[in-house]
Amino acid sequence: MSKHIPRKRFGQNFLQDAGVIASIVHAVNPQPDDIVVEIGPGLGAITKPLLSRLQHLHVVEIDRDIIERLKAEHPPAKLTIHAGDALAFDFGSVSERPMKIVGNLPYNISTPLLFHLASYGNRVLDMHFMLQKEVIERMVAEPSTADYGRLTVMLQYRFEMETILFVPPEAFWPPPKVDSAVVRMIPAPGARGVARDEGLLEKLVSQAFAQRRKTLRNNLKGLADVADLEALGIDPGLRPENLAVEDYVRLANQLSDKGIKS
Ligand code: SAM
Repeated sequence: MSKHIPRKRFGQNFLQDAGVIASIVHAVNPQPDDIVVEIGPGLGAITKPLLSRLQHLHVVEIDRDIIERLKAEHPPAKLTIHAGDALAFDFGSVSERPMKIVGNLPYNISTPLLFHLASYGNRVLDMHFMLQKEVIERMVAEPSTADYGRLTVMLQYRFEMETILFVPPEAFWPPPKVDSAVVRMIPAPGARGVARDEGLLEKLVSQAFAQRRKTLRNNLKGLADVADLEALGIDPGLRPENLAVEDYVRLANQLSDKGIKS
């Protein structure tokens, strides 16, 4: 088959380091009858070792040329190809059983993709993703640090996350301009509280972080007032990064109690 020319618009940086590929597959630890979905299989760096361990694999891929290659290389009995945009894909349609999701993600869409995937938190066993290192630093950030933001709060609300591998640019072809890392995400429902209205939690967190340098008092105008914050022992003069995930959940529930809806 002719050589594939990497497409920048699809974030195509193909893994070529055998050690990194083996570490990812080892971390995923696929068992033969697991339901596994790979996002962006590309030329198959992770796909092939996954297929050798699994009875069946699902992939979601947007690039038509790559889809044709995959069809030529793997029978449908072994590989189900969901052709299209992972951002619009209904991961819940794959199986009733909890699934594992894995991918060396296209970095240009990683943040919206993580928000999309977060909504399937109750349908997954675990997720392992290669991402730009800076994005993972934001996912696992502690409160009161520069990396702590909307992505941190909304993902830590649903998942326990840890960095399991740092990956240099030379592990890819072509090499990306940024450092990469692999993160493990395991659903942890309720670990940091349960928001009765998750839409309201999302609205609260995005409004709180709308302007990082401003205080909660200013950012939350029109949604939560000073009395709401003080009733929970939260200083309205704090900045959004100073609140723990649990504080955002408590505040969202307090607003729900007042009849505020998402
Ligand atoms: N898994 C391969 C590897 O590790 O070498 C390829 C990884 S490459 C960084 C990203 C892959 O995601 C490419 O195959 C690309 O075509 C695909 N992709 C890009 N945007 C996508 C989207 N919106 N939906 C599904 N796949 C996408």
